[in-house]
Amino acid sequence: MNKQKRRKKEYRLFVLASIVLLLIGASVLWWGIRFMANRIVARVIDIQPVQWGKLEEVEQAEAWTIRREKILPVPAGAKLEPVVPEGQRVRRGEVIARLQQGQLDGAAGRWDERVVAPEPGQVCYHVDGLESVLLPELIDTVEPDQLWQALQQELGKEKPPVQGVKLLDNLQNPAFLLHLNSTVHWQAGKTVLKLRGKDTSLLVKKLKQRGGETWVILTALNEVGDLAHERRNNLELVERTYRGYLVPASALTETGGKKGLYVVYKEIAYFRPVKVNGQVGEMAAVEEIAPENKAPLLGPGARVVVTPALVTDGQRVMR
Ligand SMILES: [Zn+2]
Repeated sequence: MNKQKRRKKEYRLFVLASIVLLLIGASVLWWGIRFMANRIVARVIDIQPVQWGKLEEVEQAEAWTIRREKILPVPAGAKLEPVVPEGQRVRRGEVIARLQQGQLDGAAGRWDERVVAPEPGQVCYHVDGLESVLLPELIDTVEPDQLWQALQQELGKEKPPVQGVKLLDNLQNPAFLLHLNSTVHWQAGKTVLKLRGKDTSLLVKKLKQRGGETWVILTALNEVGDLAHERRNNLELVERTYRGYLVPASALTETGGKKGLYVVYKEIAYFRPVKVNGQVGEMAAVEEIAPENKAPLLGPGARVVVTPALVTDGQRVMR
């Protein structure tokens, strides 16, 4: 009997010890999994520094220059030798080039004629046959799509290269004709575009949109420099500029009906509401709406969480 009792007691002790060990084991396992999971999440949480800057909405377009230009007559068969370099501004009466007339008699030609500037202007030897198509006086009377059509017709003609010289009026600001394979929300007579990285402003003078295409005539409101000399320019037109702290748009999230992001301060992620000034592509320009009685966290060099789905307010984010 006594022996049996002892055995029973030992058995109970054994069961109890087993349960305790099992519980310890289970909790160790649980904490271990949690620890590993946290470490994995911390490694996946993407944190990036931000800076104040600007985002620009840019439309790229090939533009054809419309400017006042005067071709100087060069007789057929004559050879032209420049006296004044390309791009130089000349006064009225200045000698621009010399002409060598044809060698009909077999003798060596003589530089027997001079080309004189009939008016002041910028010397250009790039006679391209478009001088009679891209006329400044047409801007007020012709629609941009019609002008574009006329240009395409002229470009489609096969013509031998012309040797010649012309004078560009570089005191008057030029205009530009362009075609876009998209629609824009510009308004004729109202929208002013900026050239990227420059102080030049361009007014949308005329605009025509049809079937997803757009034709535009822009007039320069100030100096455009070398753009006026080139017939074709690739223009980077800035429609709008947004300023703010530049963050990947993926950093933006919503909590409690408020748009914001997580700013990391001393390894802790804090949710802060922000005002989105604008978004271009993958980037957004934002400013913090600092909560009352709290110092703003979003400043130069501040770090934000780019994977907000993995973070909650006040969470420690290890790196
Ligand atoms: Zn030229």
